[in-house]
Amino acid sequence: MSRLDSVIRRLEAQRACLNRACEAIAGHPGVVLELGLGNGRTYDHLRQQLPDREIFVFERCVNAHPDCIPDDDHLFLGDLKETLAQATGRFAGQVAMIHSDIGTGDPDRNARFAAWLGEAIAPLLAPGAIVLSDQDLTALDDYRQPLPPGVQEGRYFFYRRA
Ligand code: SAM
Repeated sequence: MSRLDSVIRRLEAQRACLNRACEAIAGHPGVVLELGLGNGRTYDHLRQQLPDREIFVFERCVNAHPDCIPDDDHLFLGDLKETLAQATGRFAGQVAMIHSDIGTGDPDRNARFAAWLGEAIAPLLAPGAIVLSDQDLTALDDYRQPLPPGVQEGRYFFYRRA
C-alpha cells in the first residue's frame, strides 16, 4: 500500500466513524466536544452532520482554515490538561459525543496521554454518549464498540457509555 493509499484509508475510516457516531447520538441530547481542531476538517464535518448541536472545540494553538474556526464561546483554548478540567465543571454528564484526534508520531507519548484522557473524559459522558478516538482509551474498555464495516482494527476506537 502506498502512503497515499494509507492516508486515504485513514481519512475514510475517520469519516465512517464520525458518520456512525452522528447517527448513534440521534435522540440523545447533549453537546459535542471536538478535541484537537487541527486544520478544522473534522470539525467542519461534524457541524455539517449535526447542524442542531452545540459543538465545543479544544485546541492549544488555533491554526485552522479560517472558515473552520469556532466562535470564542465555543473554543477552549489551551492545553487539554487544563481546559478539560474547566469543561468538566460545566458539562459533567451532559456530553453526547466526544471526538478526539490528538495523536502525534510518538507512540509512548500517545499511550500516556490516552491513559490520562480516558479517565479525564469519563465524567463528562451522558448515558448513551459516544466517544471516538484516534487512540485507544483503555479507561473506557467497558464501553468499547465494534468499528463500522471496512474500518481496520486499531485505526480508530469507538466507545459508547451504557
Ligand atoms: N481532526 C483535525 C482535522 O481534521 O483537521 C486534526 C487534528 S490534529 C491531528 C491534532 C490537533 O490537536 C493539533 O492541532 C494539536 O495542536 C491539538 N492538540 C494535541 N494535543 C493537544 C493538547 N494536549 N491540548 C490541546 N490541543 C492539543
